[in-house]
Amino acid sequence: MDAKDLERQASLCTKCALHRSRRQVVFGVGRTPAKVMLIGEAPGYWEDLRGEPFVGSAGKVLNGLLELAGLSRDSVYITNVVKCRPPNNREPKDEELQACSPYLDAQLDLVSPEVIVMLGNYASSAIFKRYGAEFDSMFKAHGVPLGSKGKVLVPMFHPAAVLYKPDVKDMIEEDWRRLAKTLESRPP
Ligand code: URA
Repeated sequence: MDAKDLERQASLCTKCALHRSRRQVVFGVGRTPAKVMLIGEAPGYWEDLRGEPFVGSAGKVLNGLLELAGLSRDSVYITNVVKCRPPNNREPKDEELQACSPYLDAQLDLVSPEVIVMLGNYASSAIFKRYGAEFDSMFKAHGVPLGSKGKVLVPMFHPAAVLYKPDVKDMIEEDWRRLAKTLESRPP
């Protein structure tokens, strides 16, 4: 199955209750395959409206962070662990994460990234688990690349943290500058 078929299939998904309140499935955007894949939590208001991940205020922050890492949006693949907007932007439930995980698995196969950047706790714990690594706490793990099963996993604070906790901005920016160095040491 190619990316378009998979997206078409996901657009009809009714595997969890989020299908009742979503405007549309926000599947993912970017290159396939790509060296770097970014995985966030779930679509918010603007993503649900536009059908693209990270196009609201967290997306603007993310675009700036990508620049610090020497990346552009079209050089990477971007998605979320949950593809439909949770009502009122609540946190995703376990059953929603589980219902969506086959799509994420299929995207990981299609994109075949070398480096996976997880944006926030949900994505970090899901991806660490998938690659047999243990995710402890973001405060300890943020920005530190971890090699596991042929992938480099990089847990990052969610970009929205820059908006809600301005005191972590410098630390988050430093993590993305460090990502630039990790990528430089792994030529395409
Ligand atoms: N936050 C996320 O985790 N994903 C989006 O797509 C937008 C905001």
